[in-house]
Amino acid sequence: MTRLLIVGPQGSGKGTQGVRIAEEFGVPAISTGDMFRAAVSGDSELGQQVKSIIEAGDLVPDEVTSAVVRDRLSQADAAGGFLLDGYPRNVGQVAHLDEFLEGRDEALDAVIELSVPREESIARLTLRAQEQGRTDDTEEVIANRLAIYERETAPILGVYHARGIVDKIDGVGSLDEIAARIVAALEARGLTRTAGV
Ligand code: ADP
Repeated sequence: MTRLLIVGPQGSGKGTQGVRIAEEFGVPAISTGDMFRAAVSGDSELGQQVKSIIEAGDLVPDEVTSAVVRDRLSQADAAGGFLLDGYPRNVGQVAHLDEFLEGRDEALDAVIELSVPREESIARLTLRAQEQGRTDDTEEVIANRLAIYERETAPILGVYHARGIVDKIDGVGSLDEIAARIVAALEARGLTRTAGV
């Protein structure tokens, strides 16, 4: 059973690495951003509720986000572990997740902090904006998302640091190199993967 969280600023590559690491360790990658985007494209009630928030780069209210994650973590495929990408994103959500996991007698095994210099993440985001055309990848919205990351998300690392579960990984390099660094850090914690890198 491997329960992971990947944290990093916008453009750090956490989504890409998250999917890859989840595969290596045989657990589902659970991305709140992906779930919200799917809800918006499917035009569900949730999608209508969060569309304008995501387009502005603001955070969806904690109660809404935590409910979505609790539902997802309650599905059968997450019983044997999971990798969370993009949740929790502030200390309020950390408290929600703690409460939920404690109720199941579970806890996070490791928090992967992907560290990337600001110039590098902005360059990657600009490229992604051109390639994918995500509606929240405009210059103004990117600046808002990065500011929220610094103000609200970075502090959660202090909380997990105090628990001794943070692995800070250099996020500059090839996708393979970065994945290998993450795998090495997780294996050093005694976590075992189910596939080969
Ligand atoms: P990024 O990390 O590049 O901002 P994500 O795909 O993780 O992209 O998230 C996209 C958007 O979805 C966020 O800007 C926010 O509006 C919403 N969102 C995702 N995760 C959360 C969360 N844990 N709490 C609140 N809002 C969230």
